[in-house]
Amino acid sequence: MIFSEKKILITTILALMLLGFACKKEADSGVDYEVLKAEITEKYKNHPRFTWDQYKAILTELSKDKYVVLPVYQMKDYYDDNKVVVCLRHDVDAQIFKAQEMAEIEYFMGIKTTYYILATSPYYGRFINGKMVRNKCMEGAYLKLKYFGHEIGIHNDMLTAMIKYHYDPLVFNQEELDFYSSIGIPIYGTASHGSYIAQQTVANYQIFSDFARKANVEYNGETYQLGQHSLADFGFTYEAYFIDHNKYYSEAGGDWNFDDDYDGMMNALRNSVPGDRIEILTHPAYWGKE
Ligand SMILES: [Zn+2]
Repeated sequence: MIFSEKKILITTILALMLLGFACKKEADSGVDYEVLKAEITEKYKNHPRFTWDQYKAILTELSKDKYVVLPVYQMKDYYDDNKVVVCLRHDVDAQIFKAQEMAEIEYFMGIKTTYYILATSPYYGRFINGKMVRNKCMEGAYLKLKYFGHEIGIHNDMLTAMIKYHYDPLVFNQEELDFYSSIGIPIYGTASHGSYIAQQTVANYQIFSDFARKANVEYNGETYQLGQHSLADFGFTYEAYFIDHNKYYSEAGGDWNFDDDYDGMMNALRNSVPGDRIEILTHPAYWGKE
């Protein structure tokens, strides 16, 4: 089959698989997929800073023999001194729709990555009477990422759940794991989200005893405990900031952490050498510039 035929076939299969989810208009939160997509697309339309061609150029470089690219849960345990070992980590803050485009590009270029879904994001659901009510219409989107071969992880914002919505973080997280399990998505790891509450207090990963640097935080006169349970107690095998890597490339805030922005990152990638372990963080909202 030629490329375009294969693409049409796979797109059709995916559409049929996802139809069952898209049709569920009786969603718990009552939110409709197309309405949500239109709202988020409009709200974040000015966020993209890089084109899909620029993203494909990264993947083309990573397709060379020099590299091994794995989802984070596999990369963290994979060692090969003869290769540059890379993971592509995507923090899906608000833009789940761009994430799906990115995931499809990666699929057609044969690269598997990791997408971290954020429960406090506008696409995910809402806290109603102290409970998270998920947008059922979004389940197909998470499954689509999985069908493209990618890992799904949790973009941890437990400090917001605890401080703003008075959720026990262990309970909140268990409900998250139960949800993903119920739709057939295995969860291995988590990546800390830099939410507003986290910026006012501490990084979200300090909820875990493995990384907590103090016993509690104060917010609006209330005290909240940190480090009550370990990463493993929460059901995770890793925290993405703490996997073994010697190079970290990120476009957090919309700029790559290099003097020459995107070009600087590409040069660093090309100059990487076997034995390097590189974690590359992108945010789908910054991609797909017209
Ligand atoms: Zn984030």
